[in-house]
Amino acid sequence: MNHFDWQTHYQPLFTFLNEEEMGEWTLLLHEQLARRFDHQPHGDMARWLGALEQLPDISPVQADLNAAAITLKADTSPDSETLVQLESALRALMPWRKGPFDFFGTGIDTEWRSDWKWDRVSPWLSDLKGRRVLDVGCGSGYHCWRMLGAGAGRVIGIDPGLLFLFQFLSVKRYLGEVPVDLLPVRMEDLPRSLEAFDTTFSMGVLYHRRSPLDHLLELKDTLRPGGELVLETLVVEGPEGYSLMPEDRYGMMRNVWFLPSCGTLLRWLDRTGFRDARVVDVTDTGTDEQRSTDWMRFQSLADFLDPDDPSKTREGYPGPRRATIIARKPRA
Ligand code: SAH
Repeated sequence: MNHFDWQTHYQPLFTFLNEEEMGEWTLLLHEQLARRFDHQPHGDMARWLGALEQLPDISPVQADLNAAAITLKADTSPDSETLVQLESALRALMPWRKGPFDFFGTGIDTEWRSDWKWDRVSPWLSDLKGRRVLDVGCGSGYHCWRMLGAGAGRVIGIDPGLLFLFQFLSVKRYLGEVPVDLLPVRMEDLPRSLEAFDTTFSMGVLYHRRSPLDHLLELKDTLRPGGELVLETLVVEGPEGYSLMPEDRYGMMRNVWFLPSCGTLLRWLDRTGFRDARVVDVTDTGTDEQRSTDWMRFQSLADFLDPDDPSKTREGYPGPRRATIIARKPRA
């Protein structure tokens, strides 16, 4: 298989969007997905599709979406040949950055303990039960599964990284029709003023945007009046009004633009029209939360910090510290 049948795959989502008066988005997605998958396919796409196809059939499958690892379980444990085939297919989708996952006993220890972020964020959310949720920059969709586990009625994740989509699909192919989808598009590719989501998450994305205030406005446009924004991003110490713009790289990452103080971030939210914004958590990111593993063998946080002073990045900036903020879009 060297073609992804996206029309069939996304049909339930398109039906949902059309029924919920988001037909405009369906039309746009048809153009964008045709470009992505049919006209300008990624060079590794055939290989990733091959990996998906190599995943062994196992059924029936139970999922546990409320544990640290997104866990798939079979009624009877698969034989050793099946497990070898499974691991080889999953390895073909390396590097695995966001997780962890557990496929029928095969654990995927990802670069990030994304469950730690969920544990910091989830206690503060309005109950997700039945809500329509958008996860902007969702990576492999790890948190999308946790949102479904928390009772969300419909989850849509967007992330332009295509390998993430195939990692997501390797979970989804075992679960049949579930109301969770990952679309390989950017925030900027969404129609303006969707005003459709009860909760919109943007975690780990704001500092990658050259224009953070426009990102906040775009996020606000995705929310229905009264909807909730969950924002998680890198911050620095400093007075209200202060923000750090790295000269070039930050922690060896390219495209890092603005690291505000918490006070500045609250001001940005206020000035872009959000209400009741509050910082619910601030945590330093350590090398136990982000590290190289057997499933992500490239450099990781320990290599990005100053070896003589790990409280600083290699470039001499303050080491990574993340804040979570909850805010509300006004009703009128
Ligand atoms: N939300 C996840 C992943 C954060 S990593 C978490 O918090 O663990 C940041 C992600 O944002 C990357 O996967 C990257 O592909 C995605 N991203 C970067 N620019 C984006 C954009 N303009 N629109 C949507 N996603 C974007």
